Amino acid sequence: MKLILLGAPGAGKGTVAKLLTRLDGSVQISTGDILRGAVQAGSDLGKEAEGYMKRGDLVPDSLIMGIMEKRLQEPDCEKGFLLDGFPRTIPQAEALKELLAKLDITLDVVVDIEVPREVILDRLCTRRTCENTDCQAIYNVKSNPPKKEGICDKCGAKVVQREDETEEAISHRLATYNEKTAPLIGFYKKEGMLLVIEAVDSETVVNAVKEKLGL
Ligand code: AMP
Repeated sequence: MKLILLGAPGAGKGTVAKLLTRLDGSVQISTGDILRGAVQAGSDLGKEAEGYMKRGDLVPDSLIMGIMEKRLQEPDCEKGFLLDGFPRTIPQAEALKELLAKLDITLDVVVDIEVPREVILDRLCTRRTCENTDCQAIYNVKSNPPKKEGICDKCGAKVVQREDETEEAISHRLATYNEKTAPLIGFYKKEGMLLVIEAVDSETVVNAVKEKLGL
């Protein structure tokens, strides 16, 4: 499958993407994960992105498009991909449209996951992430804590609160989403590609996508 997952931070895009990849071997492409990996590795990309990310601002479109142009041409994308956290702005969506046309790739659908704001706020404040950039497993202190406090079940690395998941950064990220990313819903509606799913649990989202794609 080839699809875009839209939705506010904390809507469950990453969880849904992971579940969908199991169905047909498509890969999850999370620009947030790629950028966090670059920050931890201390690469030029990471150095450039770090300040924006800490504040909860978007990194410049040109940086993101550079990453995505390369990533979409890697061989593992041939089976399909789920874009998680990209595009985030209208210029990114327009650039993606051009890029896909150039690469002769057609998207199946754009999924917009709609979750009430109170649920999002609660989830983000209680979310914890494995700091190993090759893992980045997600936990929740209330609903899904690691078996051993602060230690990742999957890889044994430390589980931490992301620097952009303080209350201040979260409200900034949500405001940025409403201002810069929510307009993509109208963009993809016009393109006739939008599937809106109002659901708090990931299983419901996955089932709606499966039904839409006839899986
Ligand atoms: P995420 O894990 O998707 O919430 O992304 C974490 C942070 O990475 C965001 O708050 C942005 O600073 C940056 N980021 C991720 N994806 C993008 C994107 N497509 N465009 C701009 N910035 C991004």
